[in-house]
Amino acid sequence: MYVTGGLGARHDGEAFGDNYELPNLTAYNETCAAIGGVMWAERMFRLFGEADFYNLLERMLYNAVLPGISLDGTCFFYPNPLESDGEYKFNQSHLTRAGWFDCSCCPTNLIRFLPSLPGLIYHTEDDTVYVNLFAGNEAKLSLNGKEIFIKQITNYPLDGNITMEISPEKKTNFTLKIRIPDWATNRFPSELYRYENEIPYSYKILLNGETVNYIENKGYIEISRKWEKDDRITLEFPVAVRQISAHSLVKDDEGKIALSYGALVYCMEEIDNPNVFDKRLDASDFRIHLNETKLGGMNEIIAANGANTWNLIPYYTWSNRGVGKMKVWLEKEQ
Ligand SMILES: [Zn+2]
Repeated sequence: MYVTGGLGARHDGEAFGDNYELPNLTAYNETCAAIGGVMWAERMFRLFGEADFYNLLERMLYNAVLPGISLDGTCFFYPNPLESDGEYKFNQSHLTRAGWFDCSCCPTNLIRFLPSLPGLIYHTEDDTVYVNLFAGNEAKLSLNGKEIFIKQITNYPLDGNITMEISPEKKTNFTLKIRIPDWATNRFPSELYRYENEIPYSYKILLNGETVNYIENKGYIEISRKWEKDDRITLEFPVAVRQISAHSLVKDDEGKIALSYGALVYCMEEIDNPNVFDKRLDASDFRIHLNETKLGGMNEIIAANGANTWNLIPYYTWSNRGVGKMKVWLEKEQ
């Protein structure tokens, strides 16, 4: 698995390669495989009820499925490489996204998948409601024949602040389980990668403005109580720039780091970095800049060391400004 959650290293045979074979320029990572990965993770969650399957699902959703479609919704990637030299025509003989292919599985698969997203946000089982994804939404759930309305207000994944209104039709006892995203912890949900910079593990959760009793279980914040109309949870996961390194057996990523911010993996495009694209990253200062007009509105990572500045964008937004060089894994000054 690539750090984006992408699956399938080889174009030849649309195949997994050898163990730890994860080339970046020639990665296959078919968009359809990412959609398959999301479906697999959701079913594994249903079997085991563990948050890690949703940590993977979220990674795949934002970083392996979403890059498959252009920001204007009209063009598609079939393979999703983690690097482009601006010359190798990785996308079925195209250098950027295309409107259609001879075998057009990926565009049609995306068009089938995206409307199914609402069904991935919540799950219910017995007297438990799981909140697995964070997104602005209003939902009506049925728990043991009782209706429960949930509303989320959030800019996630731009930040980690979520407000949830929980309104059962009548006062009802049930357990609410809210996923703790792996990026807010120091543990990557796979041994293939690890977070290099540790962050203080802390989040804030309030119920109706006051502290609330909860436990952590299988990667979830678990609150059991009698809920009533207009109960309101506010949740703050601190978001920081994370430096990620790969397992030493992944030779293509040796001596390199990838950057992420919250749920999003980042990349560097030549268009933003003409003078430093081929320079080793030796930044010690990482800042976030909310750019509401660039690429549909997103947080840029600005990495600086005084003399040089690198600008990184979320990987899903790459190749929306013409053909050019791009890389996710950055050579790092040792
Ligand atoms: Zn496909």
